[in-house]
Formats: sequence, C-alpha cells, structure tokens
Amino acid sequence: MAEGMVLEVLTPERSVLREEVRSVVVPGACGYLGVLRRHAPMVVKLRAGVVKYRPAGREAGGPFERLAVSGGFLEVSQDRVLVLAPAAELAKDIDVMRARAARDRARARLRSREAGIDTARAQAALERALARLLAARE
Ligand code: ATP
Repeated sequence: MAEGMVLEVLTPERSVLREEVRSVVVPGACGYLGVLRRHAPMVVKLRAGVVKYRPAGREAGGPFERLAVSGGFLEVSQDRVLVLAPAAELAKDIDVMRARAARDRARARLRSREAGIDTARAQAALERALARLLAARE
C-alpha cells in the first residue's frame, strides 16, 4: 500500500465497498472534506451526499468514482477510511427512476399545505434522492 489507504463503506445490510484508494472526498455535516493518506485520525458526522474517491493507481488529477450516502459517520484511522451509513449505493447501482420518483414525492409533500406533513422527514427524503441523482449524474 505504497500510496494508498483502504476505503470501506458499510451499511447495516451490507458491505458496499472495500477498495484501496489514493484520496476520498466526503459530505461532512459542515461541508465537503478531503482525506489523503496519513490524515490525522478523526470522526465526522456525514449528511446525505456524494462520496468521491480515486482508486489507488489512478493519476492524481484523474476522474473520481462516486457513491451516494444517506448520512452516517466517517472514521479516519491509520491507513483506513471507514464510512458507516444507513444506506449507500455505488453510482452504477443507483436506480435513477426510483430516485426521481422519491425526489418528486418529497417535493410534492414539501409544497403541500395539507395538515400532518412531516416536513423534516420529507426534507431528508429529498436530500437522499438528490444525493443519488448527483452520484448517478442525473
Ligand atoms: P425510496 O422512497 O425510493 O424507498 P428512500 O430514500 O426512502 O427511497 P432508503 O430508506 O434511504 O430509501 O433506502 C432503503 C434501501 O433502498 C437501501 O438499501 C438503499 O440503498 C436502497 N435504495 C433507495 N433508493 C435507491 C435507488 N434510487 N437506487 C438503488 N437503491 C436504492
């Protein structure tokens, strides 16, 4: 692991990714955050968004791979970046039609004036859907 570190993405259901990478960018609760090898250990809360990473061996300015996370936590320790998320999907596994439908449903709820709308829940669903569409580049 000359230049790399291991990026591991876990949900309660499955291991989404375990790959040697050279850099990672995550959606921290306070903004996007880059991690390179030998970053100081830390734990950061994540928001729904896109995790971007460059696989080991890819040139420094090369393209990123992308996955969507619905929130969770990042832990950086010696040569390992661990993302623990309620849900996460690699870009290629994202069902774009489903994410569009979820986005439209959430927007309709947020626009609705009906009583009993759980605004925070609809807002969170909207953010998950937008993260998926962004990761899938739709
Ligand atoms: P929906 O309303 O479409 O179910 P959601 O945001 O409520 O969306 P989650 O509760 O975050 O869905 O996720 C439930 C499961 O479905 C997780 O395993 C997640 O990875 C998967 N999932 C949700 N949306 C998609 C999608 N667009 N493409 C692929 N997998 C998805």
